[in-house]
Amino acid sequence: MPQFLNTNDADFDTRFAALLEMKREDAPDVDDTVAAIIADVRARGDAAVIELTAKFDRLSLTPETLAFTPEEIASAIGQVPAVERDALELAAERIRAYHVRQRPEDARWTDPDGAELGWRWGPVSAAGLYVPGGLASYPSSVLMNAIPAQVAGVGRLTICAPTPDGISNPLVLLAAHLSGVDTIYRIGGAQAIAAMAYGTGTIAPVDKITGPGNAFVAAAKRRVFGKVGIDMIAGPSEILVIADADNDPDWIATDLLSQAEHDESAQSILITDDADFAQAVARAVEAQLQTLPRAAIAGPSWRDFGAIITCSDLSEAATLSDRIAPEHLELCVADPEALFAKITHAGAVFLGQWTPEAIGDYIGGPNHVLPTARSARFSSGLNVLDFMKRTTVARMTPAALKAIGPAAEVLAASEGLGAHGASVAARLARLNADEG
Ligand code: NAD
Repeated sequence: MPQFLNTNDADFDTRFAALLEMKREDAPDVDDTVAAIIADVRARGDAAVIELTAKFDRLSLTPETLAFTPEEIASAIGQVPAVERDALELAAERIRAYHVRQRPEDARWTDPDGAELGWRWGPVSAAGLYVPGGLASYPSSVLMNAIPAQVAGVGRLTICAPTPDGISNPLVLLAAHLSGVDTIYRIGGAQAIAAMAYGTGTIAPVDKITGPGNAFVAAAKRRVFGKVGIDMIAGPSEILVIADADNDPDWIATDLLSQAEHDESAQSILITDDADFAQAVARAVEAQLQTLPRAAIAGPSWRDFGAIITCSDLSEAATLSDRIAPEHLELCVADPEALFAKITHAGAVFLGQWTPEAIGDYIGGPNHVLPTARSARFSSGLNVLDFMKRTTVARMTPAALKAIGPAAEVLAASEGLGAHGASVAARLARLNADEG
């Protein structure tokens, strides 16, 4: 059974605070190992990558076989059954259509002093996408990472996906193909992140690395940040469902389990304003766990980290939700828009009982790479802007320089930066001389 909390209980604040502070990530001390792997790849390039792949993935490669050949990709794609191909194509289309709307606008204007100002957006030149492959592989994550990069206009896209014992998932290769990526290296872990960040004889370095992975991948991304950009460090998945009594308890139970089945450290929480409904959902979860194929993962997640909170009204639910700042938030209530208006912090919101979170995982259109562990307070899900940067632009006319240059001279002098002041003063002197 999960924890049961009631906002009317005397110890509610203490227990809710403890729920927020729960440490879910079993972060083994991998940092020393990762530092050594990165140093090795920087020093020995392909040779280190090949040795580490033999050691961790039991796969023997040469510089020539690090990447899948076009023939291997075509042959793997040919094995994908039509029904899966159609579903993946629909997902790719919908994800692309959604992300195209995120393309930002450039801006230019002339201000009252006559200065022309603005900014121009442009893509990063090269991005590397990590596709985890140690335990399972997720074609949907390939689409969610590669399509925003492609929409941003990234010139060169590379994928690293480990293939333990040489086994690869044809759907991952198809998803890469549908996202316009044809450079796919069969390597993983910290060595793949290091190779993409620093480059090797075979692998060209990239400017930004995105994608989920295990503790070794996360530690490597932290370490190469600065040399390259990264998207985020994603933790175990989370869902918060706010539901009133006018819902089918079975549906809500399945939605809670849909995240619990990702990971034993995942967290699923229900907030409801009806105590009987809370009990009905708890019973439904227990019943479904009897037959759920991934009950061995979902069960521990639900028991160790799950919670059911009963509150007095839906405004209270919104306040609690903001404190949780969930990765995924379902609003299964009569007026979801009204409740959404009260929500400030959430990675992705799903409005109404006809919008299960799983739609967002695959096919809805919005990105499924989302901030976890309360980081929705300050960050957003993966999007087109993650693969772009904004260059500011300014152009002075003589009149504009005369209007604002003297203030720059004053500020430069106050900071003791003589050349700064002189670079303005020299131009103003010429203007004054020309006028005189
Ligand atoms: P992975 O590809 O992240 O890791 C496999 C690699 O780990 C191997 O290639 C190896 O190089 C390295 N490794 C393994 N043991 C090592 C050791 N002892 N020392 C050094 N390196 C070692 O695959 P995984 O292990 O299956 O983990 C995938 C993770 O990604 C899971 O935690 C999963 O939940 C997460 N994931 C998250 C999302 C998301 O969208 N948030 C999506 C898919 C997967």
